[in-house]
This record gives sequence, C-alpha cells and structure tokens, in this order.
Amino acid sequence: QKNAKGNYIVSMIEGDGIGIEISKAVKEIYAAAKVPIEWEDCDVTPSLINGRTTIPEPAVKSINKNLVALKGPLATPVGKGHQSMNLTLRRTFNLFANVRPCKSVVGYKTPYDDVNTILIRENTEGEYSGIEHTVVPGVVQSIKLITREASERVLKYAFEHARSINKDRVLVVHKASIMKKSDGLFVDTAKEVAKLYPDIKVEFELIDNTCLKMVTDPAPYEDVVMVMPNLYGDILSDLSSGLIGGLGLTPSANMGDHVSIFEAVHGSAPDIAGKGLANPTALLLSSVMMLRHMGLDSYGSKIEKAVFDTIASGTANRTRDLKGSASTSHFAQEVIKRLA
Ligand code: ATP
Ligand code: MG
Repeated sequence: QKNAKGNYIVSMIEGDGIGIEISKAVKEIYAAAKVPIEWEDCDVTPSLINGRTTIPEPAVKSINKNLVALKGPLATPVGKGHQSMNLTLRRTFNLFANVRPCKSVVGYKTPYDDVNTILIRENTEGEYSGIEHTVVPGVVQSIKLITREASERVLKYAFEHARSINKDRVLVVHKASIMKKSDGLFVDTAKEVAKLYPDIKVEFELIDNTCLKMVTDPAPYEDVVMVMPNLYGDILSDLSSGLIGGLGLTPSANMGDHVSIFEAVHGSAPDIAGKGLANPTALLLSSVMMLRHMGLDSYGSKIEKAVFDTIASGTANRTRDLKGSASTSHFAQEVIKRLA
C-alpha cells in the first residue's frame, strides 16, 4: 500500500516491555536509511468481547489495508481471562506459517559458527489450540488439535518456500512414533503434499533426534527447509537461537494468504524492560525479512550489513546479551553510522 508521496505504509505494533525500546531503535534506523516507509502505529490493547480476546477495530483495519505489519513482543494481560495476544493476532489474520531463519552471526563467536537453518512452524493449532479443561480436581486435559487442512497449507508453504530459495529437500519434524494419530496425520499429509513437488525430496525425523543432532552438529541442517507442528517449532527455534547467541538475534515472519506480520522470536522480557538494555537486532532482522517480502531488498541488505558490522565491531557496541556494554540507543546510533 503506497501513499501519495510514494511511500509504503506499514502497520507498526510497538509491543510491550522491551518492545517500546526496540521499536524506537528500528524507527530511528529506518529514518536514517531513508527507507520509503511510513509507519502507521496500531494500538492492540485487547478487550474481551463475548468472552473472546479481541483486537481493536482500527488496528485490524490498518493491518488489513496495509497487508504488512511489523510487531514488537506483546505480553498477555495476566488474570483477566485473556488469551495470548500473539495467538489472537495469528487467528485474526489467519497467519498459518511462521518462518524462522537462524544464521550464525559473523563477528559474534559461539561454539558453532556454521548455523544456517530455516524452520517453518505451523502457527494455528496443535497444543496451542487453547482447549484445556479440568476433568476433576487434580486431573486436567489439554487437546492437541491437528487438522489435515492446517497441516496441508503449512506443508505446501514449506515446499513452495524451499523451491523459492533453491533448496531441494524438506525435512518434516514430528513425533508420530508416539502421537500416532495427530502427528501421524501431519506426516501422512506431508507424504501427499510431497507428490505435488516431484523436484523436492521429503524426509522425516523425530523431534528428539533432531534436537540431539542439531546441538551435536548443526551444519547438515543448512541444506533443508524444516517444517513441523506448532509446539516443536516453538522449542526447536529457541534451541536454534541458543546456538547463535540467543533470542536477541532471531527474526521471524508470520505468513498468511493476504497479511504478513514480521516479529522477533523473543517475548517482552519484563526483567530488562525500560532499562535500555534490550538488543533490537531480532526486530531489525525481522524488518529486513519484511523489506525483502516487499521487494525493497536494497534497503534490507543495507540495514542488515550495518547491523552485522556493528555487532562485529566489538563489545563496546554490543548489547549486554551479547556480552557487550552498549545500550539499545547506543547500538542504534552505531548502526546508523554504518549505513553509508
Ligand atoms: P514473554 O512472557 O513476553 O514471553 P519472557 O519473560 O518469556 O517474556 P523472552 O523475551 O521470551 O521473555 O526472553 C527470555 C529472556 O531472554 C528475557 O527475560 C531476557 O533476559 C532475554 N531476552 C529476550 N529478548 C531479548 C532482547 N531482545 N535483548 C536482550 N535480551 C533479551
Ligand atoms: Mg517467553
């Protein structure tokens, strides 16, 4: 969506906790890089309508109009009967695939320097369907919901994505050995979908085995696109983040049929909120994914390079999570210096 001045309008949800600080850093860096984007700030303070957590109408309108949003982390209000806001957004805009790339940062040393994975997480069901109840006191039941429809669309997305980035293998991660029906359906659907993509090889691996192999040697996972049900994707993507230096570094994209929302993998980090300690890299790299999605690759690459150069420039310019001493705003200024 472009306005009269030729700028793209993008919805911005600043988020809670460190969301405020890291969104500010992104806005400053975008202004300095002269990215042709105008932000439309959205208030997503939830309300309960008929017992359902609901996003304010103006925010829904903004995102449906602009089709692209950048989002900081949202905390779920505790004790008011609200569902997770992140789940509500995914449900409202039907964001069925969560794409989480994870790549070693040159200039920040970790035990492995060759991590380069792409994980696609089913984003709408599984253990996150929100169906839980107490059978009798001391006995609860939680429903893991898997449908062919949701499995099929995320699997198709994974095969399409593999094709678009020239990878010829899709790795389906599951636990169908134990969850024979639910993960079994996901696996069976993958075998069906794979027939539509004869140029791509489909492989299967048990989630526990993937965890073991990935922390032993992440390099072989560079050659595949991984796709998996919701909870496994949540856990395995945090594991991957840990391999490259933590949650402050990993971006993500929530993709739907129309709308896409780009957000950092991490949460609102209340322990460090408001102290100027947060690392804005994850949100910045999410915004770089957004720029590429919008066809603004040159701006994306410029910002990405400036971010990595800043991290590589030493501890004085790195935030505390990367064993540095820089504040969020100092880091942002150093990125701006390196945009040229
Ligand atoms: P939420 O309930 O919103 O998920 P959380 O307490 O689980 O919040 P996360 O953001 O998921 O917090 O991250 C866990 C910890 O990792 C944080 O408490 C924080 O110390 C650290 N962390 C996460 N993101 C960042 C960041 N961008 N910069 C620095 N540290 C971070
Ligand atoms: Mg968390």
